[in-house]
Amino acid sequence: MSTLFIDGRWVAASAGATRQVINPYDRSVVREVDEADTLDARTAVAAARAAFEDGEWPGWPARRRSALLYRVAELLQRDRAEIARLETLDTGKTLVEGGIDVDDVTGVFRYYATQAESDPGRLVDAGDPSVRSRVIYEPLGVCALIAPWNYPLLQMCWKVAPALAAGNTLVLKPSESTPLTTIKLTELIEEAGAPPGVANLVLGPGGTVGSFLVDSPEVDMVSFTGGLETGSAIMSQAARTVKKVALELGGKNPNIVFADADFEAAIDYALIAVFFHAGQVCSAGTRLVVEDSLHDRFVDELVRRAERIRLGNGLDPDTESGPLVSDEHRDKVESYVEIGINEGARLLTGGRRPDDPALRDGFFFLPTVFDDCTSDMRVVREETFGPILTVERFTDVDTAVRIGNDTTYGLAAAVWTADAGRAEYVARRLRHGTVWINDFGPYLPQAEWGGFKRSGVGRELGHAGLAEYQEPKHIYENTAPEPQRWFAR
Ligand code: NAD
Repeated sequence: MSTLFIDGRWVAASAGATRQVINPYDRSVVREVDEADTLDARTAVAAARAAFEDGEWPGWPARRRSALLYRVAELLQRDRAEIARLETLDTGKTLVEGGIDVDDVTGVFRYYATQAESDPGRLVDAGDPSVRSRVIYEPLGVCALIAPWNYPLLQMCWKVAPALAAGNTLVLKPSESTPLTTIKLTELIEEAGAPPGVANLVLGPGGTVGSFLVDSPEVDMVSFTGGLETGSAIMSQAARTVKKVALELGGKNPNIVFADADFEAAIDYALIAVFFHAGQVCSAGTRLVVEDSLHDRFVDELVRRAERIRLGNGLDPDTESGPLVSDEHRDKVESYVEIGINEGARLLTGGRRPDDPALRDGFFFLPTVFDDCTSDMRVVREETFGPILTVERFTDVDTAVRIGNDTTYGLAAAVWTADAGRAEYVARRLRHGTVWINDFGPYLPQAEWGGFKRSGVGRELGHAGLAEYQEPKHIYENTAPEPQRWFAR
């Protein structure tokens, strides 16, 4: 089956190009997919434009769009096992993680289904009884949705669900290395009954296909999740056509642990925070910021448990963590070990590839812990996007906050303490888009997600996540017009 979806048809790339999708566990070829070029991207944009201008979709009442989203949610659950398996083969993550992703995005589709049909706009009091003023929310038009490889299904759904709820037409562009679940998602949107041209799919490199979408004057908005440098380039490129951009970029997220925290829970979550999905999580808790008096006991136990994490095939139920996504990415993660050591950080465990011959073909890297770190080190400041934890210490609450905010990013943070007043004080002062108290990681479809500072522009999820895909329009109606006689009296 061809894997580009343009104007309601599955088609091959116009130039006949293909790409092999590689399983990061053993480098086997999972599937060959079609590889679009800018000509295919142009056709996809034209289809989305035509569907928005002339198709039946703009005439669909909100209730019908809502029903489509509910149907996609149902189909995601129907095919849950298959989708989880595809995500494992594509990214290396465990089947359990893939299943959690499917459940999460089902919730996101359901949430935006409710939003789609409960957004009639608002009346505005003009202060004049003869004026009827209201603000309604219209779709932007054609939206290009560009997603990364670490959560291919989840990040794409965070965009697709609100963009469809708002009535836009779409061109989806997943990461070239992890397209499988986005192909499946597009099939489900088609099966749910979206008209031709409403959701188009192009697969291909960011530098050509992605860049074309950002440049195209026929695209009204780009919603991007990915790295800081790419996001920054997209923002300046989009300026040429004064396109709206929404950016979800990286994070260097502090996990602040006070000595009075529940030890067992804090340790357990500290491990999950950084080593879940081999650290390839934008909101990973890669910076442990721990109170001095707790430091030795906490870090010793953390290292002991990190060394027991079972790496392996994501399809094996005993596996606790899979490989990194690619050889190239592993090289990048590995380079931070030398950087950290040269900066004076003390390597406590990991820092290399595993010896286990069973893992030889995969892109595995051992859970790694660096102690004696300071906020000025590159290994602390830059996103390694791998299983590397850095440890910093503090002695008082204001120092903890200062360290937690000492980053150019601002995506997520956590604070662990038994003192509710202190927890609230720290949570209020941290400059991050999400702050967890005595927890790490959860998000809710109905609560905004996104970054302060260089972690992004705009928000996904929640009401603001829908507003990203809408244009407010003010309709001002004079119900009793009288000549004003300003001129020509
Ligand atoms: P990336 O920036 O390399 O690529 C992301 C996407 O952009 C891919 O689809 C890629 O093909 C495309 N792309 C690349 N260059 C482009 C260009 N010039 N024009 C248009 N599109 C282009 O990111 P990645 O390596 O795939 O993903 C990892 C990054 O994503 C990390 O930095 C991570 O923190 C970030 N991320 C952020 C969030 C969040 O919610 N804030 C969530 C997940 C991942």
